[in-house]
Amino acid sequence: MKILVLVGFISSLLFSFNFNISDTAISNGATSLIEFNKENGLKYEKLTLGKKSFKVYQHPTDKTKMYALLPISYYEKPSDKMVDIYYKENGSVKNKSISVKIKDGKYKKEKIQVTKSKVNPHKKYNDRISKEYHEAMKIYGTSTKENYLSTEFMLPLDSFITSDFGKARVYNDTLKGYHSGTDFRAKVGTPIVASNDGVVVLAKDRFYAGGTVLIDHGQGVYTCYYHMSKFDVKVNQKIKKGKIIGLSGKSGRVSGPHLHFGVRVGGVQVDPLQFLALMNKNLLNKEEK
Ligand SMILES: [Zn+2]
Repeated sequence: MKILVLVGFISSLLFSFNFNISDTAISNGATSLIEFNKENGLKYEKLTLGKKSFKVYQHPTDKTKMYALLPISYYEKPSDKMVDIYYKENGSVKNKSISVKIKDGKYKKEKIQVTKSKVNPHKKYNDRISKEYHEAMKIYGTSTKENYLSTEFMLPLDSFITSDFGKARVYNDTLKGYHSGTDFRAKVGTPIVASNDGVVVLAKDRFYAGGTVLIDHGQGVYTCYYHMSKFDVKVNQKIKKGKIIGLSGKSGRVSGPHLHFGVRVGGVQVDPLQFLALMNKNLLNKEEK
């Protein structure tokens, strides 16, 4: 949808600020994309939605544009919301509001049987679980200025999906949140590749996620690979798309071997496949085949 907003100056000067939003009706758990045309005298800074703030960055493949991602938390309820776009016009900070509609993603429920100790873990694991949680949140809360993305994302393996993002999860009859990624069928030992270029920011065994690799793609975008049995990468290692990062497994809280693939954008967990499709369609260069 093309939206043209005329930003008036008290004097008779008029600046036009032009942006393009991929969708103004967004499901909870989905991501929307806003692209801005660069204009003289205007500097786009950030978007805010409620208390959350998302930076505007240089477009990865179009020098004439800036962009921002607008990830919607799974926990957002259907409602009408205002997104405030902050920008500087000849040095003074201004903002412009646009309205978006949060839709119900209509995610299903799923029952899972796992070892009892992984549903209500023994107290002795509390410290470990808490440390791992805070370590991951610190990573996701960091937006690396550098961008590593230029060409389309790929899936981390060639397989089929066994569980979609967003399913409400009932573990041994207890509701425990929702499925935070997309599960792919993968027998133990299946090679897993980096979904795109980036830097490895975590490679370790964790209580729930098991063998985990996190890749920073820059500008607040991370991909996550869980339940792995072996790592072929180290923290701070630069990785190219399609390169093997390790082997799939069945470590952590699982009911069987598979790869759990997740995406974080600006700290928000989003539907990986919707995000990949959005980026590949709008922002990134097509791969020559
Ligand atoms: Zn999963």
